[in-house]
Amino acid sequence: MGGAKRMMEEAERQQGAAAEILLKVGIFGCCPVHEDILLSGDIGVDLTPAYKYGNYHWEKYQEVFETPRQMTDTIKEVAEGYELAAEECPICANNAASD
Ligand SMILES: [Zn+2]
Repeated sequence: MGGAKRMMEEAERQQGAAAEILLKVGIFGCCPVHEDILLSGDIGVDLTPAYKYGNYHWEKYQEVFETPRQMTDTIKEVAEGYELAAEECPICANNAASD
C-alpha cells in the first residue's frame, strides 16, 4: 500500500501549495497570532488572481503539480472546501470567550 500512501502525501502537498497560493493573493486570510490557522477571506470572489499567481510562479509549483491544469483544479477544490471555514480564529475566539 506504499503507492496509496505516496498518493495521499502528494495530494496533501498539492493542497498545501494551493492554500499557500490562496494566502499569497489574499483570498485566504490567516490569524495574526496563530499563523497556521487558515481563515476564509473573501470566498466567493474570483479565483483568477490565484490562478494567475500559480501560473506566474509555475517554475516553483511544477515540483508539486504535474500540470498547470492540476494546479488550478486544486486551487478551486481547496477554495471551495474552505467555504464554510471560520472567519474568526477558533483559538482566539475561545480565548476571548473565557476572559
Ligand atoms: Zn488566533
